[in-house]
Order: sequence, then structure tokens, then C-alpha cells
Amino acid sequence: MFSKRIKVKELLQLTPNEQEVTVMGWVRTFRNNQFIALNDGSTNNNIQIVVALGLLDDATLKRITTGAAIKVIGNVIPSVGKGQSLEIKANSIEILGDSDAEKYPLQPKKHSLEFLREIAHLRFRTNTFGAVFRIRHALTFAIHQFFNDKGFLNIHTPIITASDAEGAGETFRVTTLPIDGTAPRNADGSINFNEDFFGKSTNLTVSGQLEGELAATAFGNIYTFGPTFRAENSNTTRHLAEFWMIEPEMAFYDIEDNMDLAEEFIQYIISYVMEHNKEDLTFLDARLAEEEKQKPQNERQEFGLIEKLKFVVENKFERITYTQAIDILLNSPAYKKKKFKYDVKWGIDMQSEHERYLVEKHFKKPVIVSNYPAAIKAFYMRLNDGEEAGKETVAAMDILAPGIGEIVGGSQREERYDVLLKRMQQFNIPLQEMNWYLDSRRFGTVPHAGFGLGFERMVQFVTGMTNIRDVIPFARTPKNCEF
Ligand code: ATP
Ligand code: MN
Repeated sequence: MFSKRIKVKELLQLTPNEQEVTVMGWVRTFRNNQFIALNDGSTNNNIQIVVALGLLDDATLKRITTGAAIKVIGNVIPSVGKGQSLEIKANSIEILGDSDAEKYPLQPKKHSLEFLREIAHLRFRTNTFGAVFRIRHALTFAIHQFFNDKGFLNIHTPIITASDAEGAGETFRVTTLPIDGTAPRNADGSINFNEDFFGKSTNLTVSGQLEGELAATAFGNIYTFGPTFRAENSNTTRHLAEFWMIEPEMAFYDIEDNMDLAEEFIQYIISYVMEHNKEDLTFLDARLAEEEKQKPQNERQEFGLIEKLKFVVENKFERITYTQAIDILLNSPAYKKKKFKYDVKWGIDMQSEHERYLVEKHFKKPVIVSNYPAAIKAFYMRLNDGEEAGKETVAAMDILAPGIGEIVGGSQREERYDVLLKRMQQFNIPLQEMNWYLDSRRFGTVPHAGFGLGFERMVQFVTGMTNIRDVIPFARTPKNCEF
């Protein structure tokens, strides 16, 4: 019986001719004991239900409150009211779930994003989050479609691992050992992980890349799309402790091929949303314009949301080397007027203020920066040939986006066994534990490359939401793990 319902999105496309339909959803508002605005999450648009005088008894009318779930059977008729072309003349209304209007936290008024974060279990029911999460879904679908059409294999890399792709800390430990001080110890006092569940020290993955590389050296082109975890204590609008990453890895690819793919990929998924989520984008475009109005003139963004997306899809990304980026920064008015908090010189790991200057002030479009100093990048990135000592670079590439900063990080991988071995030693990577990784260079090694796209940063970019906590259903950040 429930399967007979028509979704509001589909319903609004009908030509009204008194046909009978069944709709179910949640009441947004109920005016004059007569007009219900009903929403079922299929679109931000509500369907208006007209309740004729005398159809329902007083007790039932009182139960039609904001947030209540109802089932309506009625006829589709043209609407005389403004704002909609059709409405439903109700024949029967059944209350499926009551909602105490006094206690329901989501009142039919504008709530701040901060407040909605505290009631994230209910915010799906707002227009803003309806639009954001429908777009998040569309992006997910577009990503799989893009890679599937190109013959990439989707690989599920492990979530619990014993390796740390970056060779850095910032991981969440996974253990079943007691934490009350009674964990088994080695002679030297350190924890004896031989006794732990996996017989070794394990953590949640920070990236699926290394395992992805193994698959790429068999299937050619693969991609992962999974959760990653970083215990970084950075409370920013761009960092989560749990986020989703897309990591394609391609055999027989160099850094140029890698950049081409990343650019085509980003343009494809944005175009997909522009084509399939017009309504939601229009809503978010207006929302952002409203938010921008609250800012002082000089802080406002030049482009509206849709305008920005259109621009990104239609224009080639700027491509520069790290060395060129540093030169641009050194010659910038911002540098000369000492506007940067952090120093600029060749060798620095560019700070967010530098990246934002490049994309937002200088180029005003997405920028691909390549060939970073070897010292500041991961061990697996391919060492460029013939460079003077102290100035070595690797074939890395980051894509920087306006308003977000780094959205993609990638590189051509070091395929030469000897060079890789040396780099791993320099970075103190435990060779014994990474023997499996080295095998990919021992047996049929090939030039290959890949990148990681932070999914939530992409959703931020497409929806115009300024805080990353507002593009994932339930954000995990330092000191926050609700729901
Ligand atoms: P950043 O410098 O912004 O912290 P990163 O250099 O640590 O980024 P990578 O290790 O290259 O990032 O990860 C690949 C991609 O994952 C990044 O380009 C970014 O889009 C995304 N990303 C990285 N860290 C986070 C995080 N904590 N939360 C959400 N997305 C992230
Ligand atoms: Mn980081």
C-alpha cells in the first residue's frame, strides 16, 4: 500500500486533471486550517494540500502540525494560488506520525547553520540541507559514472591498515588491548602489539593509494571511493577527522596525463550536477547571494555560485610550477605590503593564505601547481631528473580551487626501485613492513600516477557551503562525535 505513493517531484510534473494520487511526507506549514505545505524530500518544492471545510474533525486538524508525517489521498487540480501550478484537493488525510509543535526544534523560520549543526539529526528536513544532500548524492553518482564510462575498476581498499601512506602521524589507532594500563608490555616497557587483535599495531586508513597502486599495476586504471580518517587537530572549515576520498590510480600515466584526467573529471562531475540538479543549485545560488550580502563589499565573492561553476566547466585550469607560484607570490602586492602571515621562499609548504592568493586574487580560477620541492612531499612521489642539490623537486600536482584551497593532491609515482628505496630510507619508512609495496617495483614496474580528491571539499565547492561540517551528514571533528 505504501508503494503506491507518488513522489512530490514527479507529482509536480503532472498535468492536473483530477487524477487521484497518494502522497506522503512531512508537514512544513499548515495555514488557516486549510492549506498544508507538504514536503517528502524528493525536491525542495512543497505540494500544497487543500483541506476542505468539514473534511476532518477538530481533533485531527490539530494534529496537522509542522514536522508531522501524513498520508494524503486526493485529486490533482490546477492551483489558483500563486507559487504553484497545481495542488491536491484532499479526500482523506491520515496522520502517520505526530509532531509536538511546542517541542519540535525546526520551526518554520530561518535557523542559523550553527544551530542546525546541533540538530543535525533533523536538518535533512530543511531546504538548505535537502539541496546539499541531493547534490552530494548526484556527485557520488557522477563520479562512478565518469570512471565506469572510462573503464576504471572500483577497488575497495582496506579501512584498517598497518601502514600509514604519508609516513606521518595523525592516525586513529585500532586496538582491542585494554586502555587501563594493563596492556601487555615488552621488556623495554613498550606495548606488545603481538598480543593485539591483528598481532601488530594498526590504525584507520588515511588513504587507499598504496593499495590502489597495486591494483593499478594489474588492471591499468582503478579508483577508490571510501572513507579516510585523520586525527589532525585542525579546527578549520576545510578539515574533517572522517572524510571521503576518491583516489584514481593509472598505470602508463605520467604527470601530464594525470593533470588532464583530474581536470576532465572535475569538469565532468560539475557539469553533471549543473544538468541534473538545476533546482537545488538555483536555491543554493540564492542562499549564497543572501549570505554574501551580509559581508562587507570588499570581502564578497565576485561570482555567484552557478556563474562560478559555469566558469570552471568552460575554462581550462591554469597550470604553473611550484617555482612559478613562489615567484608570483614574491612579486605580489600582498607580499610587498607584508600582508602574508607566513613567510614566502622557495622550499616552503605553501599555506592556505598563499594558495588562496594564487587562485582568488591572481588567477581567479582553479590552478594546478606542479613540481613541488621533494623535501615537503611524500616518499612515493617521482623524483624529477637532473636537478641541482637542495633544489630537487617531485612530479606532484595539487589543484587549488577558489574558496576551498587544495581540492586535489596527486603525483606521478616513483616507479624506479632504487630511487624509491632511497627515498623510503630518507623518510624512515619501515622497509620490512612495506615489502609488499616494493614488490610492485620489483615485478613489472610501470610509470603510473594518481590523485586524491577530497569529496567533501568538492561538495563544498559545488554547493557554495562555507563550512565542511555542512556538507557531510554527521561531521566528525576534534571534540565532536555526535549522532
Ligand atoms: P591540506 O593541506 O588541505 O590539509 P593535504 O595535503 O593533507 O590537504 P592530501 O593528503 O593530499 O591533502 O589528501 C588529498 C585530498 O583530500 C586533499 O586534496 C583534500 O581535498 C582532501 N583532504 C585532506 N585532508 C582532509 C580533511 N582533514 N578533511 C577533508 N578533506 C581533506
Ligand atoms: Mn592535511
